[in-house]
Amino acid sequence: MKTIQLEYTDKGYSYIKCTRKECLNWGGLAICDSCGCDMLEEVYLIYILGQAFCQKCFKEWVERSKKYEDDLTLQKQNHKRWYAAHGFKAIEKI
Ligand SMILES: [Zn+2]
Repeated sequence: MKTIQLEYTDKGYSYIKCTRKECLNWGGLAICDSCGCDMLEEVYLIYILGQAFCQKCFKEWVERSKKYEDDLTLQKQNHKRWYAAHGFKAIEKI
């Protein structure tokens, strides 16, 4: 399993940036869940949405997303397991 550092949006939602190849490895189609484009470059995997976004859609989501404490609590409990299911050992930034 690949070890990867978690990143967080300004609202506190975790995500990881991965490659198209890694997306295909977990059985993803490398199709953006928002706009449906073929993700040739970076793939953004977002726990709280349960989806993978292209860079453009990720940026748009970051802009419009709102911070919900309940979501952040849920995230804390579950996100590492969810990322692990996609082949990543997610670690906190030091
Ligand atoms: Zn997209």
